[in-house]
Amino acid sequence: MKTVQTPACPYCGSHRIEKGIVWGKSAEGGHVGLKYNAGLFTGIEKVYSDLCLDCGSVLRTYIKEDPEINWVKN
Ligand SMILES: [Zn+2]
Repeated sequence: MKTVQTPACPYCGSHRIEKGIVWGKSAEGGHVGLKYNAGLFTGIEKVYSDLCLDCGSVLRTYIKEDPEINWVKN
């Protein structure tokens, strides 16, 4: 069996991947994320990214909650 390791960056081959970095805004609070309908209000689901520490590429962007919710589109 192969040992599980951090996947290499597809752009530069580096294994120095920083995981789970939160997306956010610099000033006025709140965070940037994916919009969803939650009954009477609209929510924002926090988005996380994995970043290559050698070439700066964002390798993956994802949420940590259940993705089966009512997303706002268009
Ligand atoms: Zn890279």
